[in-house]
Amino acid sequence: MSVLSEFFLFFSGKKRIIRLSLNTFEFKEIQIICKKYNLKFDYTSFETCDYGNSWTSLVKNNHKKEFKITDTIVIVIGHSVEILKEYIQAESNFDYFKAGELLGYPICCIRAYSEIEVLKENWFQYYLSDNKKSYPFWANRINTIFGGGSFIGEMFPCSLNCENAINLGKNAAKTMESFGLIKLTETIRNHCMAPIYLDQNNQLSKSITSNKIDFY
Ligand SMILES: [Zn+2]
Repeated sequence: MSVLSEFFLFFSGKKRIIRLSLNTFEFKEIQIICKKYNLKFDYTSFETCDYGNSWTSLVKNNHKKEFKITDTIVIVIGHSVEILKEYIQAESNFDYFKAGELLGYPICCIRAYSEIEVLKENWFQYYLSDNKKSYPFWANRINTIFGGGSFIGEMFPCSLNCENAINLGKNAAKTMESFGLIKLTETIRNHCMAPIYLDQNNQLSKSITSNKIDFY
């Protein structure tokens, strides 16, 4: 679902490349789409570790094009071969700063990534650490844990109040609407605006608790 807004940010010219991290089956499907629409792509495969809550860490780059069924493929799609090569090299070297720059992420959000990354499956708590009870929804991607969509794709904003991230989200929504995808935009908006509930241990709760976080 969040992959969709990546595509629309790309189409809107806000991004020069799209980066997707896929399983081997999804990778085969995407290759067919790229060939059909004449989009250039490059990729590399990683051994990964799944921590839950939609957090998967890339553990080891295989530095080759063959992969095992359990590997995660990082594919990057764009119009020029040079930027794709540059991106794959940055990702292979775990150079998140360079990778974020090439993806067109705001510098404030790129800088915050190392703080979010160390939290692994508790990444969502980074966004709630100021103990507020409501946040703007535009840069919200916490609901992607439950399979929901996000207007900022796979980017991690530096905060849910980050103006730069909010503007990216608004741009993706506007582009989707300009493509006539009114229903889809509304669905993603509903996902982003859905309240979340935390249990006593500050973990996401599937049932309603007194610790409710709203998005507006
Ligand atoms: Zn930011």
